[in-house]
Amino acid sequence: MAISRRKFLSCIGAAALTTTTNGLSKAYGASNKHFKGHPDSFGILHDITKCIGCRKCEAACNKVNELTQPEKSFEDLSILDQKRRTDANIYTVVNKFKHDTRAPVFVKKQCNHCMEPACASACFVKALNKTKTGAVIYDESLCVGCRYCMIACPFEIPAYEYHKALTPRITKCTMCYPRLLEGKLPGCVEACPKEALIFGERDKLLKAAWQRIYRYPDQYLEHIYGEHEMGGTSWLYLSKHPFSKIGMREDLGKKSAPELTTGPLSAVPIVVGLWPVLLTGVYAISKRKDKITKEEKEKAVAQTTALAKEDTEKKLEALREKMTREKTSAINFEVKKALEEAEKTDAADKTDDKAPEESGKEEN
Ligand code: SF4
Ligand code: SF4
Ligand code: SF4
Repeated sequence: MAISRRKFLSCIGAAALTTTTNGLSKAYGASNKHFKGHPDSFGILHDITKCIGCRKCEAACNKVNELTQPEKSFEDLSILDQKRRTDANIYTVVNKFKHDTRAPVFVKKQCNHCMEPACASACFVKALNKTKTGAVIYDESLCVGCRYCMIACPFEIPAYEYHKALTPRITKCTMCYPRLLEGKLPGCVEACPKEALIFGERDKLLKAAWQRIYRYPDQYLEHIYGEHEMGGTSWLYLSKHPFSKIGMREDLGKKSAPELTTGPLSAVPIVVGLWPVLLTGVYAISKRKDKITKEEKEKAVAQTTALAKEDTEKKLEALREKMTREKTSAINFEVKKALEEAEKTDAADKTDDKAPEESGKEEN
């Protein structure tokens, strides 16, 4: 069912031509305006029933994105016993779910590349965009670091490089957008040995997924996760087990984030602008946090300065005392010396006074 390479390249070429006008994309998203998504975009189908939890996709993702190597190798499968989530240096994780005595179930998690992304609609500087390829990409040159996207994403995906003091970025799976533009498959898809990940046009993936469901009703739930969740996502999932039992949210509904906000709100004139207001509120909270941090820093600097001043004063006082002591001792020394010299002079004078009598006696 995988898309043919020729078709793939021609689609990518068309997408690239129409989207790369200034190096990146002339893409949609980044507003609270509802749009229908890109009908011919690509997607990835994750057939959870085929996944064996080998972590080859994680390793490939780490490699193609040139991320820091983890402490434990990707061959160490003991890590699957922990429930992990993506972070600034890990764009995808595979988690293991155990149900009674049945074989464990493995689920890969990454950005779902929503058709109408909440992250992009929350980003007022348009640093996140849904491209015509289906990938939701990030432009760090536009990002102001407000982190609204992190708050907005219902799947808790975007991460922030807190460890980078000067150039922190938002990070997440890119659907290997740079590789797509080169006509290559996403790294994880290419690496999967079980075809648990399949890349292709989203519409065709949906058709193929429904065919699997109808053909093997005992193996699959009658539900493709991502077909409608939050307005639909480019990553689609097939499973035998209820999605809520394998770490996936089933409470999100079918409406996209922009639709949820513009639809009902635009019907109520008084709150037409509530979405930007809410965002401004979040922004204000974020600014307030920054302000508090700034105030705390200033307080710490003031305390340190006061302590340093006190310390300096003490040292100066000690120096003054030392100098006074040395000065007094020098004066005392000089006085003593002067007194001794005076005594010597006095003694010499007395000797001189006696000297003529004695010489007279000699003369007589
Ligand atoms: S999963 Fe989250 S980060 Fe990814 S496109 Fe959707 S809203 Fe954005
Ligand atoms: S599509 Fe690329 S960035 Fe996303 S999980 Fe796969 S390898 Fe990582
Ligand atoms: S490479 Fe394929 S089989 Fe292995 S963990 Fe990833 S999705 Fe599952």
